[in-house]
Amino acid sequence: NKFEQLGLNELLLLAVKDLGFENPSEVQEKAIPMLLEADIDIVALAQTGTGKTAAFGFPLIQKIDAENRNTQALILAPTRELCLQITNELKLYSKYVKGLDVVAVYGGASITDQARQIKRGAQIIVATPGRMQDMINRKLVNISQIDFCVLDEADEMLNMGFYEDMVAILSETPDTKNTWLFSATMPAEVARIAKEFMRHPAEITV
Ligand code: AMP
Repeated sequence: NKFEQLGLNELLLLAVKDLGFENPSEVQEKAIPMLLEADIDIVALAQTGTGKTAAFGFPLIQKIDAENRNTQALILAPTRELCLQITNELKLYSKYVKGLDVVAVYGGASITDQARQIKRGAQIIVATPGRMQDMINRKLVNISQIDFCVLDEADEMLNMGFYEDMVAILSETPDTKNTWLFSATMPAEVARIAKEFMRHPAEITV
């Protein structure tokens, strides 16, 4: 099992086994060792269905301090469906990591319930940009101390008109965080986000 050569810890390898993943996909093979090893920003060109959720999810879970209840990572995704899908995957990947909580934040559902879940202590928030910006405005969430920001399907988020929200949200995060951007395509707007908010990102193409 080539997953054992990527640097993942025992708890994550147990989850890999339960999931029945035989071998890492190409984006996982490229991204996981890189993200585990260094504090770096990456821009990864990868389509959906390539296993990109695990490519950022496993390193994220391994790097987060599950004993600390503060929000340490923010994942932005374009739709409620993707948001829920990522949240479910991360819960499966982290099933053996005690104390790690993942909360999904998206429009069309109770903001009060979502705020309550965050307040209980969620190290990872998976959010759509509109609802996230709403929660920031209402001071229901604090992302000023996060260590990691993942932009998933960045091209889709920008296509849907989330540029302003993304900029506003990223401006609330510390400069010290690492940003991992995933996109199927690289239009000018995505390049602009990368240029404005990332530091010398390493590039991964699959
Ligand atoms: P994604 O591209 O992240 O949406 O993943 C697509 C699907 O592939 C999801 O259902 C994952 O659970 C699954 N998957 C991810 N990595 C692997 C792997 N290494 N082996 C088999 N299935 C995987």
